[in-house]
Amino acid sequence: MSINEKSYAYGASKSSIREIAAYGARRKAEIGAENVFDFSIGNPSVPAPDVVRESIARSLELPPTELHGYTPASGTPAARQAVADSLNRRFDAGADAGDLYLTCGAAAAISISFHAIVNPGDEVIVIAPYFPEYRVWIETAGATCVEVLADQDTFQIDTAAVEAAITPRTKAVIIDSPNNPSGAVYSADNLAALADVLTKKSADLGTAIYLVSDEPYRDIVYGCEVPWVPKFYGRTIVTYSYSKSLSLPGERIGWVYVPATNPDHDRLIPAIAGAGRKLGFVCAPALFQRVLIDCVDVPADVASYARNREALTSGLSELGYHYIEPQGAFYLWLQALEPDANAFFERAKKLELLPVASDSFGCTGWVRLGYCCDYETIVNSMPAWKKLKESYA
Ligand code: PLP
Repeated sequence: MSINEKSYAYGASKSSIREIAAYGARRKAEIGAENVFDFSIGNPSVPAPDVVRESIARSLELPPTELHGYTPASGTPAARQAVADSLNRRFDAGADAGDLYLTCGAAAAISISFHAIVNPGDEVIVIAPYFPEYRVWIETAGATCVEVLADQDTFQIDTAAVEAAITPRTKAVIIDSPNNPSGAVYSADNLAALADVLTKKSADLGTAIYLVSDEPYRDIVYGCEVPWVPKFYGRTIVTYSYSKSLSLPGERIGWVYVPATNPDHDRLIPAIAGAGRKLGFVCAPALFQRVLIDCVDVPADVASYARNREALTSGLSELGYHYIEPQGAFYLWLQALEPDANAFFERAKKLELLPVASDSFGCTGWVRLGYCCDYETIVNSMPAWKKLKESYA
C-alpha cells in the first residue's frame, strides 16, 4: 500500500519528550505517582487563572449557534483587536487587528509561518538546543533544517556562527526566547547583533531573510526583560501561544503577527491566510477566541514557577550539579555527568528521574528538566538526584 512515507516516519518515530511522558504515566500507574519524578513535558501544573473560568462561564450563556459557530478563518475581528491592543499597550507595537491570524497554539502559528515564506530547497536556521518540533515543521514546509549551536557558555545566539551558516538558500532563522530548553533570554545586544548579521547577509546575497520569533514563554521570566524583536529587525514574524502563560495547552489558542514594519507585510498577510487555508488551520477555537477578549492581559503565575525554580536550582547546586541559571520559561538545562546524555538519562531513569536528553534538542551532553511539575515532585526528587550524583563518584 502506498502511503506518505514522510508522514509515516514522523508518526512512527514519535517525539522523545512525549515518549518519556507516556513512560512516566505508565510508571506512575505501576508504582504510585509520588514515586516518579517526571520532568519531561512542558505541561503547566499551575491552574489557569480564575478569570479564564469566569470568561468561559459567561460565554456558555450565549445562544449555541453564536457560541459554537464558525468564526472568520483568521479569527474574529474582536479577538484580533484585543490582541493588537494588548501588543500596543505593552510594546508600542503599532499593531492592527488585520496584522494577526489566530491559530491552534504556537504549533499551528509556526507551521503557518513557514508555509507562508518557504519554497522547496530553502533552508531555515535553528539555534541548538531547540524545540524538536521545529525540524518537523521546517521539513514539512519543504525546507532543510540547519542547526547552529548557541554559545555553549551563555546559550545566547552565536551570531558569528549564524553568519557562517547563511547561504543564498537561507529563508529564515527561528529563535525562541525565553528559550526552551535552555531557559536563556536573548539580550538586546544579542538581538541587535543578529539583526545586523541578517541585514548584512541579505544585502550581500540579494535575498530576504525572515526572523521567526517564537515566544510562548515571553511572559514567564524571572526579573528580566524580554526585548520586543520587531524593534530590532524589520522582516520579523512573531508567533505566540497561551498554552504556557495562561496554562491552556489543551485548548489550542495562539497567533501569528506580522508587524506593519515588515517590508513584505502586504503580501505576507495573504500568504499567512493562504498557508492556514492550505493546511486546514482555520477558525481557531471560538470559545477561546472569546476568552482572549477577556484575558489577553492577565499575567502568568510566575511566582509558582519561581518557587519551583528556586527549589530545583538550590537543591541541585548543593549536590554539585552544573546547570544554566534559567532567566525565563520553566526548564532547567543541566549538564549530564557523562558526555553521553542518553546514557545519563538511562541511569537517571533507573532512579525514577525523568529528564529529557539533550540529543532531542540538537546537542550532546545535557538534559532538560521541566519544572512546571508540582513543587512536591521537585523537593521529593532530591534524594534520587543525590544517588545519581553519587553513582558517578
Ligand atoms: N514553541 C515552543 C518553544 C514550545 O515549547 C512549544 C510547546 O511546548 C510550542 C512552540 C508549541 O506550543 P503550543 O502548545 O502552543 O502549540
